Amino acid sequence: MIQRTLKEIASMIAGASAADEDQAVRIAGVSIDSRSIEKGNLFIPLVGANADGHQFAESALQHGAAAALWQRDHGTPPAGPVVLVDDALLAMQQLASSYRDQTAARVVAVTGSNGKTTTKDLVASVLATTYKVHKTEGNYNSHIGLPLTLLSMPETTEMAVLEMGMRGRGEIALLSRLAKPEVAVITNVGEAHLEQLGSREEIARAKLEIVYGLAADGLFLYNGDDPLLIREFEQLLQSPPPDVSGDQWKLLRFGEQSSNDLYPEGMMTDGTATHFSMNTIHSTSFTIPLLGRHNVVNALAAVAVAKYMGVSTKDVRSGLAQAKLSGMRIEMTRSAGGYTLLNDAYNASPASMKAALTLLAELRGYKRKIAVLGDMLELGPEQADFHRDIGEALDPVHIDYVYTYGELGEHIAAGALSHYNPQHVQAFRDKEKLIAALKQLVRPDDIILIKGSRGMKLEVVADALQ
Ligand code: ATP
Ligand code: MG
Repeated sequence: MIQRTLKEIASMIAGASAADEDQAVRIAGVSIDSRSIEKGNLFIPLVGANADGHQFAESALQHGAAAALWQRDHGTPPAGPVVLVDDALLAMQQLASSYRDQTAARVVAVTGSNGKTTTKDLVASVLATTYKVHKTEGNYNSHIGLPLTLLSMPETTEMAVLEMGMRGRGEIALLSRLAKPEVAVITNVGEAHLEQLGSREEIARAKLEIVYGLAADGLFLYNGDDPLLIREFEQLLQSPPPDVSGDQWKLLRFGEQSSNDLYPEGMMTDGTATHFSMNTIHSTSFTIPLLGRHNVVNALAAVAVAKYMGVSTKDVRSGLAQAKLSGMRIEMTRSAGGYTLLNDAYNASPASMKAALTLLAELRGYKRKIAVLGDMLELGPEQADFHRDIGEALDPVHIDYVYTYGELGEHIAAGALSHYNPQHVQAFRDKEKLIAALKQLVRPDDIILIKGSRGMKLEVVADALQ
């Protein structure tokens, strides 16, 4: 974590100042929450919609903070060492950025509609075989989470693997310019955040902002299965922002299709792991402790980053095989009742819903396959159509039962009813009734996929079936 004197801290933030007598005070790490302050921290009082951190600065100092930032427009600071700044959030971002510049860390940035966390974890796992790696914890991928991630990075970090998330235009640009990646990855472009952005083109442009801070000779890896992303990137290269020059970037497209620079060969799953090789590294087979083609695509990006960073193929193999992934992203478990649960209740968008359904359809060795699908939220005015499309694309040959949950889920059911046996499709608005119906339905050797947006909390259903 960052360790600096207040004199140094003030010099890292534009327009910041510390009193003469405080200049030698040393901080270790930062915190934005006075309740979890650790001894020696610099307390950063963020001004939020509901609370103003300045109210808690005094308490933070009493509970062990070595110093606090203080916005000049907030009047007299509390007693104790402070650094005066104009804007605490901006100050935290600048501090993170200049700390990043002062360390020798090489930065890998990952964005995309789906698969950011998975890809970030895979990249970190392969790089960690060879380097000292620091990575985004969980989902700390925002304009607040990313600076905090950088500021918690050990000074000796060799590689920082950062997840970048967004809800609108300009956010990834800010994060990329702040973190200045040497490698940037776009996992895919889907429909998540369509409500905020209006079109898939705009989503692609928003993700492409990840190259705004990319090193002049950096590597840009992007999903080439999507013509839209390719098109928008070509547009960007033709008229880049004034401070961006892509002339010397190394570009690699990855994806399932063989039109990409990097694509998988010989994909195979044994029910708990997936094996594949890659077109450019023929003689080697890789294994990931994950299911689904989409995760193989995520892994291709990880292999490419690792090879670029000089990791040996042997270490890439072991890094992928040992990857530790965050929970609820397609977890397969055997229930006491002898059936299998495919719990993907973490979140859902059309792209990740399709990915999970493809996986369910492809898995072998089960008597019946049941899809339990909840609403996909934040899809904007065409949300009903997105749900209906999912239902229409379901294949009754491979997926036997479709149970939906939620208001929008009813459109999935309606789509499925266009070609399913009506007895195999049911829509629910009451979670308890859904659980009761599933308990009635399931038998040993069935497999049940459970997926919906975070807000639908379908893990409750998974737990009940467990
Ligand atoms: P968030 O926006 O919540 O941070 P994320 O982009 O970090 O999500 P993950 O947490 O890795 O993504 O995965 C979220 C969901 O997307 C999971 O349900 C997973 O199965 C699915 N998923 C992962 N990778 C892909 C991909 N390349 N294409 C489509 N779906 C994917
Ligand atoms: Mg994530």
